[in-house]
Amino acid sequence: MELGIGTMASGWKTRYLNLEETTRATMYRPTVAEIDLTAIRDNLRAIRAFTPLKTQVIGVVKADAYGHGAARIAAVLEQEQVRLLAVATPDEAVELRENGITAELLVLGNSPADFVPYAVTNNVALTTVNQATTMMYAAAAGTHTVRLHYKVDTGMGRAGVLADNATKQILYSAAVPRVSIVGLYSHFACAGSDPEFTALQTARFAAVVRELRAGGLQPAMVHLANSAGMFTSPGVMLDGVRPGILLYGCPPVPAPTCPVRPVLSLRTKLEMVKELPAGHGIGYGRTFITDRPTHMALIPIGYADGYLRGLSNKAHVILRGRFAPVVGRVSMDVCALDVTDIPAAMPGDRVTLIGEQDGCSITADELAELMGTISYEVLTGISKRVPRVYIDRSP
Ligand SMILES: *Cc1c(COP(=O)(O)O)cnc(C)c1O
Repeated sequence: MELGIGTMASGWKTRYLNLEETTRATMYRPTVAEIDLTAIRDNLRAIRAFTPLKTQVIGVVKADAYGHGAARIAAVLEQEQVRLLAVATPDEAVELRENGITAELLVLGNSPADFVPYAVTNNVALTTVNQATTMMYAAAAGTHTVRLHYKVDTGMGRAGVLADNATKQILYSAAVPRVSIVGLYSHFACAGSDPEFTALQTARFAAVVRELRAGGLQPAMVHLANSAGMFTSPGVMLDGVRPGILLYGCPPVPAPTCPVRPVLSLRTKLEMVKELPAGHGIGYGRTFITDRPTHMALIPIGYADGYLRGLSNKAHVILRGRFAPVVGRVSMDVCALDVTDIPAAMPGDRVTLIGEQDGCSITADELAELMGTISYEVLTGISKRVPRVYIDRSP
């Protein structure tokens, strides 16, 4: 794999940047997650075109930007004028700051009191969920003011003040010194699957916003919709939307009005090809037995890379314009393909496990379906062992 700055045959300026390049100048194993930063930019543009002008797009970059590499993705979003980035944990916020990200950050999950001094001096807003948490943050803020987004539980049943109690508690919190309630939000439980319940959550949230206004509190930013909610409740994009998976090009519901494309491709190369006679087992447990003389090929990727064992004898990969089946159990570091029907296959051939190659495509959603999960888990499950390689075709 080429590192550094190169020029593709097409003439596009192409940067290959490896997150680990500061510690490691070479990659001996060809398995990589290729991240197309131009796709992120284009997806953001499509999302902005789909949202009302007054609605800010909050870039959700939690869980290492859904496995895409939070520092690089955040840098691109910041360059594209995204003003607020959302992470799940305090440590994710620190990682972004240590990588030079200056946009305001919002921690969606829980933050302990000992993170507050960092938050107030590094422009990190926290999520508060009740009066006690708010008081705790205020006490830890020292002489600074802590910026808080109040989370309302309108039906998710996780963190957040219950909608029925919300108004009183939030108004009370707003009066606490060294606290600034800058945001108010809630989260949909089934935006993609239950329109009725989503409408109920929306109504509960709207009631809280109305009551707060009547009580004299208008948070600067009121936000509700995740990716799915943007399509199933387009009327409630409010001051902000919080797309995650949509940014990464895997819409969780059909989104013809907002054309995005996948950002991540999982690629490797054929390691070796060998002939096995009929009746030969392949892999642990001998779950695949050849029924003909078989050209078996190995690829250097396994469940420790996030190519999960559940894909054994189920998934296909793209090789020379064809789909080659994964045969036998996926091992920790390697798995086998049946390439008998692709006689030209040879070591070094490019293989795509997620993404497009030679006019064929495999999506994270398709792999997720095979494993009985969702694209989110497939993407965030691509492990640290897989180097992220960045491609930027922007002018
Ligand atoms: C993860 C998350 C999102 C983004 O969800 P997607 O389905 O990826 O768009 C939005 N809001 C909150 C509170 C989240 O935790």
